[in-house]
Amino acid sequence: MKQQKKGLNTTCTHTGQLEDKEFKGAVSPLYMGTAYAFEDIDVKRYPRYFNTPNQVGLAKKIAALEHAEAGLIFGSGMAAISTALLAFLKAGDHIVLQKILYGGTYNLVVEEFEKYGISYSFTNGFQAKDFEEKIQENTKVIYIETPSNPLLNITDIQAVAAVAKKHGIISMIDNTFASPVNQNPIDDGVDVVIHSATKYLGGHSDICAGAVATTEKNIERIFHLAKNLGGSLSDYTVWLLERSIKTLGVRVRAQNENAQQMAEYLYEHEDISAVYYPGLPTHPDHEIAKRQMKGYGGMLSFELNSDLDASTFQKSLQLIRPAMSLAGVESTVLSPALTSHALLGPEERSRQGISDGLIRFSVGIEEVEDLIFDIEQALAKVKLLMKQTV
Ligand SMILES: *Cc1c(COP(=O)(O)O)cnc(C)c1O
Repeated sequence: MKQQKKGLNTTCTHTGQLEDKEFKGAVSPLYMGTAYAFEDIDVKRYPRYFNTPNQVGLAKKIAALEHAEAGLIFGSGMAAISTALLAFLKAGDHIVLQKILYGGTYNLVVEEFEKYGISYSFTNGFQAKDFEEKIQENTKVIYIETPSNPLLNITDIQAVAAVAKKHGIISMIDNTFASPVNQNPIDDGVDVVIHSATKYLGGHSDICAGAVATTEKNIERIFHLAKNLGGSLSDYTVWLLERSIKTLGVRVRAQNENAQQMAEYLYEHEDISAVYYPGLPTHPDHEIAKRQMKGYGGMLSFELNSDLDASTFQKSLQLIRPAMSLAGVESTVLSPALTSHALLGPEERSRQGISDGLIRFSVGIEEVEDLIFDIEQALAKVKLLMKQTV
């Protein structure tokens, strides 16, 4: 019989697994070594060369999940993003980035790029034409993030990748929010896929890591810089991340389902004025999301009615915890106006559509009824407190 291409959960559980030849254990042995003999002159095995046995195995798994030829695992999402960007940009080059990016990526560009002589433009919107109009003669990279944080804007991946191809520019995507379960941008023509593995790939709020997946040729170029910058991931964490990814498909599909149900519930709620979730038919880019995503993800945002205090609401939740990060199996919330976007100031926030009552919701794998109960009791508390203070 012909070899069949493995499905998602089989790739999650098996691909890249290291064989335990001596003891026949069911899981990858963990090689903590930092010193290896030269196998031959070409293989110098060393953690910062990104080629220890566990690093190589995990890179294979992530590459397979992203339908890419090869991958590289980093010590954080930002190590992956900064290394991938700087591998393709040099003094005199220009990059076009999507407006509204993960805060760390935005800071990297606006705080660091000028001193390397790299110029940048942010788009005015999320359409392919918004990217094309910012392209200059020296543009070398186009960078997108979809769904975006925190308003879940959708960028048409195929359309933007086609614009990049037409102009001979490398396209990169931060695929963290969707995860490879819901979105495989390489199939849509994107060149380089990047993850903060701290989020869905890790999935238990206990691992900080990053990953890049692309062609062998691009990985070679990124690796060349990566070994000089030194942002590799320690083998123990590599091993933990491999274990986490075994349940990636199961976790994210459960999160997709929960988030869809929570979005529909919140949408109907009289105390909620808006819900941002690509899985809702009312989302302005629902049709694009439907085409390019296999599931709509576990992230959503909603706005409390303006008379309800977001901070009191968050403090009143008992099951759902306020947290800066996202994508764990446990549900968490965050108020962008008070945390991730506090430094922007009220004017820029309102320009970006981030109101004081906006709550970003990372939906976990709990039972939906328990999540709904928690939101109901928190809203009741907020309303009671308001009555008492009037
Ligand atoms: C968290 C995050 C990052 C950065 O990842 P770290 O692992 O914290 O360095 C990048 N992009 C997105 C979308 C994220 O959510």
